[in-house]
Amino acid sequence: MDIQAELISIGNELLSGQTLNTHGRDLGEALSALGLQLSRDTTIPDSIPIIGKAVEEAFDRVNLVFVSGGLGPTIDDITRDALAKLFGQKVIVDQPTVEHLKGWYEQRDRTMTIAATRQAQVLDNAHVLFNSVGAAPGQRIETADGKTLFVLPGPPNEFNAILKEEIIPWLRIRYAEIKPRYVRFVKTKGIGESDIVTILENADFQPLEVELGFYPGQGRVKIRISAEAENKAKVEEVEQTLSKLLADHLDLFE
Ligand code: ATP
Ligand code: MG
Repeated sequence: MDIQAELISIGNELLSGQTLNTHGRDLGEALSALGLQLSRDTTIPDSIPIIGKAVEEAFDRVNLVFVSGGLGPTIDDITRDALAKLFGQKVIVDQPTVEHLKGWYEQRDRTMTIAATRQAQVLDNAHVLFNSVGAAPGQRIETADGKTLFVLPGPPNEFNAILKEEIIPWLRIRYAEIKPRYVRFVKTKGIGESDIVTILENADFQPLEVELGFYPGQGRVKIRISAEAENKAKVEEVEQTLSKLLADHLDLFE
């Protein structure tokens, strides 16, 4: 079974070049390890209509959507409002989060302002996901038609903490029957991609049921060979064939 997920990263700073968007890489890696597939990674500005449309369109394609950013106390943090509007839900203050935030501010000798309380706002039907390294919690929202939306804060350390501590364990149970893909790499150096392709074409190399990816960089090419877990033997066969065909160019020390 192929379970696909989409990520929608929200933030003007991601589009203007101020901040490098790292969530796609981190989420893609975490989902792949579970055998789930990040099938699209969209970056959009801080705009209520654009957020609503992006989430709606993502749910037309997949059952699992991740949204990140815009959960803080500032006026550009509008993700909650956009989602509340889309789902016709109220935004409520999550009392346990308020208590947690009070402690969080006290520890830092800061007073919790009304603006700070905004970080404890969640959608009425959300399951609150504890944020162990920051203020705004994550949220899991089950939609009326049985799909799942995860909402996460923008700072990468908070995004990754909630992903690892709250979401991955949940996904592991939810998709317990899914096995991660089997992956092997063949690494070359001193040979260009087009020369590799020529060698493979001349040998009539056309693997079936195995996916190949070519990742060139700095005089090296990394070839990723992957397939569903039950096709492990086919992946290993392709790995051996490629290693033989490219024997003179293998990067054995990387
Ligand atoms: P906060 O409560 O800190 O405001 P937030 O959920 O509102 O969190 P944003 O305001 O969107 O998140 O972003 C907070 C910080 O995290 C910014 O410095 C932003 O550049 C960074 N950030 C947001 N999204 C990403 C991303 N996709 N990749 C890397 N950094 C990001
Ligand atoms: Mg913010």
